[in-house]
Amino acid sequence: MPMKMKGLVDEVLESYQVELSKHDITMHTDFTDLTYIGNHQQIYTLLNNLIGNAIKYNIDHGHVFVNVEDQGQAMKVTVKDTGIGIPLADQSRIFERFYRVDKGRSKQRGGTGLGLAIVKHIVSHYKGVIHLTSELGQGTTIEIILPQQSIKEV
Ligand code: ATP
Ligand code: MG
Repeated sequence: MPMKMKGLVDEVLESYQVELSKHDITMHTDFTDLTYIGNHQQIYTLLNNLIGNAIKYNIDHGHVFVNVEDQGQAMKVTVKDTGIGIPLADQSRIFERFYRVDKGRSKQRGGTGLGLAIVKHIVSHYKGVIHLTSELGQGTTIEIILPQQSIKEV
């Protein structure tokens, strides 16, 4: 079913208002709206897990940038944060089920370690790709490219 990406991002952000103001995190979502054809629940979960991480692993007074871009045959979703970053040694493993970066910092910030495994599962269902760049103490950027679902002609 077709969904408007701006509305979907806003929907996700509504559930994080308390966290955002508690830590004075500023959201930047200044992109041109577009329609993507897919499963609303899956795309909502994908955005929710990525944006949730970008907020949870941020610092006080930090920033989160969400961008959605039309690439013709695909949509590119970028979630970038100015948070704590992910050590290089862990970067290849964070998409595994239950994998969490060092117990100390993860304990302070609850979670099960499933969020990104679910993201990976959804992206592979859409035959998309995930690109991660992160620097410790600087922040993390996750880019996802989802091919536009083929539209059946009747
Ligand atoms: P859940 O999402 O199930 O509540 P979680 O956030 O720990 O728990 P994932 O979302 O799968 O699990 O993330 C795995 C680990 O990767 C996290 O524990 C965290 O250490 C690290 N991580 C994920 N996103 C970020 C990010 N934006 N910045 C820094 N570290 C991150
Ligand atoms: Mg998570």
